[in-house]
Amino acid sequence: MNINKYIPTYVIDSIFKMDPKDVLKRQYKVILSDLDNTLDCYLNERPSDEVKNKIKQFQENGIKFIITSNNFKKRVLTYTKDLNVKTIWLLLKPYTFRLKRFLKKHHINKDECLIIGDQLFTDIALANKIKIDSVLVKPLTNQDQKFTTYRRKKEKKLLKLLNDNNKFNQWR
Ligand SMILES: [Mg+2]
Repeated sequence: MNINKYIPTYVIDSIFKMDPKDVLKRQYKVILSDLDNTLDCYLNERPSDEVKNKIKQFQENGIKFIITSNNFKKRVLTYTKDLNVKTIWLLLKPYTFRLKRFLKKHHINKDECLIIGDQLFTDIALANKIKIDSVLVKPLTNQDQKFTTYRRKKEKKLLKLLNDNNKFNQWR
């Protein structure tokens, strides 16, 4: 396995610890955020005030916030109903073609984007393939949907390997 494919640009415990000013300082203007276990547990159908406020905080600082999920349309649209955000569902991460098409359609420059997610094999692999900087966060909960569970075990080993080899660069 080529571990370089899975090295995030940065790591941080949680998206909720990210200050919009630090995003802007690094010249990012668009956040492409994963949904499940990055913003919320998949069992929560609607966003909490904490999630709403965090997204609003990014937006008030002029950062576009886009929710990019591998989950189904219904899950993503139900969750984001009252959020003023663009969404992509069934993104098929780590495959890049759906995201490429989306960025082109909305005239978004890759260099201004930051991908945030909790999974190496989907979120970070996608980021590296499409060459967008990324932030790996810790999963918010240990609740995963079936299609994620089988991946987590492999991922744990890889996380340890990357950590042991000092491949993680803290977001501060
Ligand atoms: Mg996730």
